[in-house]
Amino acid sequence: MEEMISPNHSVRVVNQVIDNLNLDPVLKQYAGGGCPAYHPRMMLKVLVYGYVTNLYSSRKIEQALHENIHFMWLSGMSYPDHNTINRFRSDRLKEVLKAVFSQVVLLLIDHGHIDLREAYLDGTKIEANANRYTFVWGKAINNNRERIKSQLKELWAYAESVAKSELEHNEPDDFEEIDAEKVARTIETIDKALEGKEVDTKKKQKLNYARKNWPENLKKYDHQQKQMGDRNSMSKTDPDATFMRMKEDHMLNGQLKPAYNWQITTQDQYILGYTLHQTTTDTTTLPDHIDQLKQNLGILPGALVADAGYGSEQNYKYLEDNNIEAYVKFNNFHKEQCQKWKEDPHRIENLHYNEEQDRYYCPMGQPMNNIGNRLRKTTLGYTQNTTLYQAQNCKGCPMRGPCHRGEGNRIIEANPLLVNYKQIVREKLNSEQGLKYRSQRPADVEAVFGSIKHNHDFKKFMLRGIEKTQIEAGLVSLAHNLRKLTN
Ligand code: SF4
Repeated sequence: MEEMISPNHSVRVVNQVIDNLNLDPVLKQYAGGGCPAYHPRMMLKVLVYGYVTNLYSSRKIEQALHENIHFMWLSGMSYPDHNTINRFRSDRLKEVLKAVFSQVVLLLIDHGHIDLREAYLDGTKIEANANRYTFVWGKAINNNRERIKSQLKELWAYAESVAKSELEHNEPDDFEEIDAEKVARTIETIDKALEGKEVDTKKKQKLNYARKNWPENLKKYDHQQKQMGDRNSMSKTDPDATFMRMKEDHMLNGQLKPAYNWQITTQDQYILGYTLHQTTTDTTTLPDHIDQLKQNLGILPGALVADAGYGSEQNYKYLEDNNIEAYVKFNNFHKEQCQKWKEDPHRIENLHYNEEQDRYYCPMGQPMNNIGNRLRKTTLGYTQNTTLYQAQNCKGCPMRGPCHRGEGNRIIEANPLLVNYKQIVREKLNSEQGLKYRSQRPADVEAVFGSIKHNHDFKKFMLRGIEKTQIEAGLVSLAHNLRKLTN
């Protein structure tokens, strides 16, 4: 077998790299005693080589172990079945794969393949292993709750109109906050009050329906809201998956699908770190992603290159605090380069600002005075401080329309900190180095996603739940790096 495998074959790279890893974190997962398990190093080699060769299903890997000479060589003719492979992937690698992955990245640094001088960050949505019609919307839950509240109020009012004296000693519940117990109790009180009374058939039917369904439904809503957390949606089959708009939309109908937001940083097309997120936007993922990179590698890249989806005051501040040079575009970065934008006299960026007097001047020359500050908290808890300036009198101004369409006098919101960050970033992005990074970004990080999704056909997770999908993202990233090392 040894003679049949070429010296530079990718299976040898997988074998050699994994042989050099410290697998103590994985070994600690095994309690001593009992039947000897398949050696975790062999299991990891087989699993990673499966991902290198586009075999993501444990059944297909099991089959390859019986048919494919490279798998046989790697496993030393051991034949773990698909259950064993799956258990190893889902349970044993849960908390340790990131550490294993990081060892490979550090090896790549040691061998001079990468140097972390810069890193390219981007994200993609990968479909979850969940039915796309099993959605739960946070808004729908709130609406249903409100509907139950108002119908309960109606039933109480009806009961009072029919049996006022029976309800005299039962103070009507405050229906603003309802839960399953309170609703069940209220319905019971109404039932008792209406006993022996002539009750409208429709109201009777409503009461029967309410008794049977509302408490159960409210319990279900509570549970779903707990699972959903801060998100607006989730899938019933994989509650960790959130409904997101995908780039790959073959039906072109803008259908939302249950998915995870997968973020990676790369250099020279090697993946340096990966994280999975449940939010649809990229902006909020940056601090967590870089934190994890720091935690896993112990070092941070010198510069970060990313597209406008990541440009926010909080992210610029975060990068500054961590001594990372930001080559991160902001919204309108390209637009503001064009002549029309530069010459538009109404844009806040083009208004004259007098620092001494702390006031702007509108296109008609009217002073716009400081009328106070506005504090805004982002979803990650960062507080943004902006200043408001208002024009004196917009009534009858010939520029009304292109300058200001709203009622009253025009108010602008200025954010000096963000303006300052944008100025620094603008200069960086337009420098020689910045232009080099900007042209490299799509060829670096976007090409990696392209390769994984289209050349290696990884478009959907096989496992469910964020813990397990994170393992899959890690295995795909590890396989990608080893493939790249072989080429
Ligand atoms: S609409 Fe108001 S803010 Fe705009 S130019 Fe006229 S006076 Fe100035």
